Amino acid sequence: MLGLMQEWPLLCHKILDAAATQHGKREIVTRSIEGPIVRTTYTDARTRALKVAQRLERDGFLLGDRIATLAWNSARHLEAWYGIMGIGAIYHTLNPRLFPEQLAWIMNHAQDRAIFVDLTFVPLLEKIAGQVKSLTRIIILTDREHMPATGLANTVCYEDWLAEADGDFRWRQFDEQTAAGMCYTSGTTGDPKGVLYSHRSNVLHAMIAAMPDAMGISSRDVILPVVPMFHANAWGLGQSAPMIGAKLVMPGARMDGASIYELLDTEKVTFSAAVPTVWLMLLQYLEEAGKKLPFLNKVVIGGSACPSMITQKFQDNYDVEVVHAWGMTEMSPLGTLCTMKPETDDLRGEERLAVQKTQGFAPFGVEMKVTDDDDNAHPWDGKTFGRLKVRGPAVARAYYGDAGTEQFGEEGWFDTGDVAFIDPNGYMQITDRAKDVIKSGGEWISTIDLENLAVGHPDVAEAAVIGVSHPKWDERPLLVVVPKAGKEPSKSEILGFMDGKVAKWWMPDDIAFVTEIPHTATGKIQKTALREQFRGYRLPTV
Ligand code: AMP
Repeated sequence: MLGLMQEWPLLCHKILDAAATQHGKREIVTRSIEGPIVRTTYTDARTRALKVAQRLERDGFLLGDRIATLAWNSARHLEAWYGIMGIGAIYHTLNPRLFPEQLAWIMNHAQDRAIFVDLTFVPLLEKIAGQVKSLTRIIILTDREHMPATGLANTVCYEDWLAEADGDFRWRQFDEQTAAGMCYTSGTTGDPKGVLYSHRSNVLHAMIAAMPDAMGISSRDVILPVVPMFHANAWGLGQSAPMIGAKLVMPGARMDGASIYELLDTEKVTFSAAVPTVWLMLLQYLEEAGKKLPFLNKVVIGGSACPSMITQKFQDNYDVEVVHAWGMTEMSPLGTLCTMKPETDDLRGEERLAVQKTQGFAPFGVEMKVTDDDDNAHPWDGKTFGRLKVRGPAVARAYYGDAGTEQFGEEGWFDTGDVAFIDPNGYMQITDRAKDVIKSGGEWISTIDLENLAVGHPDVAEAAVIGVSHPKWDERPLLVVVPKAGKEPSKSEILGFMDGKVAKWWMPDDIAFVTEIPHTATGKIQKTALREQFRGYRLPTV
């Protein structure tokens, strides 16, 4: 017997409808690419998104068309997302930090038909547009006054193009399983792979993300997503913020410490989310400028492991709660968040920090397990690590065009490529990417643990650990360090600092000092490039 409740498809534009109905006056504040701070509201965003939808249809775009965006976080980018989804087309976020050839490859693979582009990225698009034959419309996200001179064909000025629509439009209706958005993984090895979100998965993910023990956000929050909309959907904030009616503050192109601080302060931001590097820049700025954070309550930190030093500084010096989170593009992207359960909430000091070093537990809607190579599940004992697998309504079941099929296992389990353990309370800790883990004498050494420890040294700006071949042990850890400006820590000082905090046999065999560590387009340490750089490196223990 079926239930007798209404069919109310979970469609993304309903999120914006709800925001405009219940929270219409709530602001979306943007540091615009043109310069000034621009203020709109959810009511404006909905009206303008309807115009985007109307205008796209008039240009001949339809259900299922891929429409790219190459843009920073801004109100215009958000309107474009909802306008695209509102006709059943698919927003495709492009990461401008990729090489032009990679971008052209991705756009061709996705067969993008149109693109919304920020002024910043017009020169980049000029380099690749000619190679993307499917592209028939380029919409430059600015007004007439700021339109650049460009040789790009089929170009329009966003504000002029939008002004040709009156907004008298109804969102198109379709099945909730219809594709809504698309994002390619950065592909450190092999070609990038496309993840195709549905309306249903986006809506469910937004609800999951907002829950009290996940991000725990409400209409009383002022949310600053520093994490870009092109990096795994700004971790869902482009959907969960309007869903719960929070004021949004969009940082545009400037993510340095001073610029982020200015927005946190003037807009009284209560909640923010970014990768560890962004927070390092902010903390450094706060220390140098002697500033405090009176309004900020909570920061979500993810994308790479959050060093305990960052958590400690936020909590002890600024009274800001840190929520360490893990996820991936394939998971929309949230997987786990480290909030406290009754079992952990009474812990203080080092014990609490030890919990916060884990990536947290999975909210309702994410199932996980850790297995050996034969898919046998490991116990949740806080030490046995293995392959981390996940499933849920906002987890990919395939890549676009059927790439990477080996990652999708039986009964919906997706192999994340991460290595982790889970403790008896359900808290999961990533020890490595499977490709990066160091195999020494048949045992595994976690590079993340060693990096986390090394950046705790006061003279270390950034640290990365890679395995270097060793005749006896197979591989041994090499610690690569970027010292802080003006500091010259010695190898023995750093090793002395680490000594006793990890198992003896985990200690790096050597330290190499460098001025820079290579990063991927999403800000992660590029271990493949680092291993290449240190190929043939002779450890003193050999
Ligand atoms: P992306 O799809 O670009 O967001 O990358 C996802 C990958 O980033 C994951 O599979 C992890 O390897 C890594 N990652 C994300 N969050 C964390 C975290 N909190 N700690 C360690 N690794 C993380």
